[in-house]
Amino acid sequence: MTVTSTTATSVKTTCPYCGVGCGVNLSLPSASMDALPPVSGDLDHPANFGRLCVKGSSLAQTIQSDDRLLTPRVNGQPVVWASAIETVSAKISQVIKEHGPNAFAFYLSGQILTEDYYVANKLAKGFIGTANVDTNSRLCMASAVVGYKRAFGSDTVPCNYEDLERCDLLIMVGSNAAWTHPILYQRIAAAKKQRPAMKIVVIDPRETATCDIADLHLAIKPGSDAAIFSFLLQYSSQADILDGDFIAHHTNGFADALAQAHESTPTLSATAAFCGVSEQDLASLARWWCDTPNTVTFYSQGVNQSSSGVDKCNAIINCHLATGRIGKEGAGPFSITGQPNAMGGREVGGLANQLAAHMDFATPGAQELVQRFWQAPNMATENGLKAVDLFQAMEEGKVKVVWIMSTNPMVSLPDTAQVRRALEKCELVIVSDCKAHTDTTVMADVLFPATGWSEKDGTVTNSERRISRQRGLLPAPGDAKHDWWAICEVAKRLGYQSAFSYRNVHEIFAEHAALSAFENNGKRDFDIGHFSQITKAEYDALTPVQWPVPKGRPEGTKRMFEEGRFFTPDGRARFVPITPALPKNATSQEWPFMLNTGRVRDQWHTMTRTGDAASLAKHTAQPYVEIHPKDAKRLGIKDKTLVRLTSPYGEVLLKAKLSRAVAPTNVFAPIHWTQQFANASVVSNLIPQVVDPLSGQPESKHTPVQLEAVTDI
Ligand code: SF4
Repeated sequence: MTVTSTTATSVKTTCPYCGVGCGVNLSLPSASMDALPPVSGDLDHPANFGRLCVKGSSLAQTIQSDDRLLTPRVNGQPVVWASAIETVSAKISQVIKEHGPNAFAFYLSGQILTEDYYVANKLAKGFIGTANVDTNSRLCMASAVVGYKRAFGSDTVPCNYEDLERCDLLIMVGSNAAWTHPILYQRIAAAKKQRPAMKIVVIDPRETATCDIADLHLAIKPGSDAAIFSFLLQYSSQADILDGDFIAHHTNGFADALAQAHESTPTLSATAAFCGVSEQDLASLARWWCDTPNTVTFYSQGVNQSSSGVDKCNAIINCHLATGRIGKEGAGPFSITGQPNAMGGREVGGLANQLAAHMDFATPGAQELVQRFWQAPNMATENGLKAVDLFQAMEEGKVKVVWIMSTNPMVSLPDTAQVRRALEKCELVIVSDCKAHTDTTVMADVLFPATGWSEKDGTVTNSERRISRQRGLLPAPGDAKHDWWAICEVAKRLGYQSAFSYRNVHEIFAEHAALSAFENNGKRDFDIGHFSQITKAEYDALTPVQWPVPKGRPEGTKRMFEEGRFFTPDGRARFVPITPALPKNATSQEWPFMLNTGRVRDQWHTMTRTGDAASLAKHTAQPYVEIHPKDAKRLGIKDKTLVRLTSPYGEVLLKAKLSRAVAPTNVFAPIHWTQQFANASVVSNLIPQVVDPLSGQPESKHTPVQLEAVTDI
């Protein structure tokens, strides 16, 4: 595919992969037809200051795919946009009329831009009248969101990336940042090199690449994270390092949380035994915790993807509140998002249990306020279906039209056999994607060709609340269109002309900003009202800024809660009593191994983009399962031979990688490979639809399985 030039010759944009949100310079290719558009790190971007990891550096290789979806398709046949829009809107209208608004659903993605999310959320919640707007971000950080809300009354990340460099103790829990957030890891490693006294502790059942810079690795029993923090809370009390003043004036519920911590984790030895770590290592962590007021706890999917993920988050937050380690430089509980715009989706209400602009359905007066602002004729009035529930409702015939955007649930959701049954049952499956062939596009009745990273315009928000522009440089190929445009066209065809008559993303962003500040009485954390009057030229020139950006504070907000005031009705943070729990499904004689899942260094999600970059396949060419050599010997499994993994939900074939990085009876497999890349190696086939009861986030990291050497193929 030939790339032709537009008027600009280079743009400052943002990497579309992980939640670090690095700034990227993208330029037009040279005159040579074979040349790729040059990509480099943006020296001015505060997330990366010019650095790019290997995935970001290889972006150019992913731009000119031979598998681009270039025209709309209905039942496999190419059609013009008008016809595809007509087909979709007619079916949505019919289904709403016959079955009500909840028969429609969006399933979105942390890959789409905030402006795309905003119009999808507005159409569903304000005009169709359903809150069935969920997203693959449910698989990424939903537990962290609920943890923050329980503690702070809002989904607010307190910290920033500089805090990671300025802390004296960094506790990294459930994160292999060296591979999943490489630029943050590089910043942390550089800070440690400069200040060797800075301590780093990694809490993870597996010895990952991140352990290379750790002073201490606690290889905990899978899922036992909350007990570590429950113990730290009670130990802080014993060691007399509590911040009594902060607890008294800025929090509620401390006594109950402390009593529960004493009951759940009464002693160091009991906690060490529960977590499967040595008493000596746990004592080292406790001592460093007590000696180091400047502590950041950095957590990610290893904490969130659990049937008790929310409790784990609150166990962490409890420790920071009890010691006043929040709202200060180099201190705080810091959840890192997986995707480039998981946070932007949260800002507009792009989760089924949110309304808009960080307001929930249960927020007093919020529904009326949003309805007034949108002039909405059909406001949804209650939470919609979270990802796993949504696909279950689809299989039950309750959701009859689903619009999937920029994600591949046939590979990424747990129990993919159930996802297949759901999509087969659904009367109309619409998929918007850049790619013609993914495991999900083949299930679609209607395909909408979407613009890709180098063509799209809008904003994203990274893990430190920083809003950055993504800027398109290359023209859209074929009939590819922006996601926001396709949503607005369907909305207009449904009869909502004026509410969806945006001419560009600038108009959507300004409206989103105005809603965030609309009748704000100072009790809302997400306020970017400064941008409600933003001009197109200002939007085009927007430089990265951390929200909140209320009127009168254009510089944004570097750190939250510096005044010790939170977004609960009384302004106090809340302790949550935590009883540490192990994974919902335990290993057994029949299913004796605990399967942990994660990422490899050079691939992203289901490889729909990184799979196009030949150089990225060099690091890890094939799917594999890490097995401890002792287990392998017992089962007669040799390195690099085929292994069959079975769970009650399915089976997969993977290549054995013998490694002491996993403990005996634990195994690890990366999640990227799809049916298209490696037949029979979709790891999600094995994972049950067990979710955290509060966040709905699937327990993707703790699945009991069986292993056997493959001798029959
Ligand atoms: Fe992209 Fe993340 Fe790498 Fe930065 S660290 S270049 S955002 S993949």
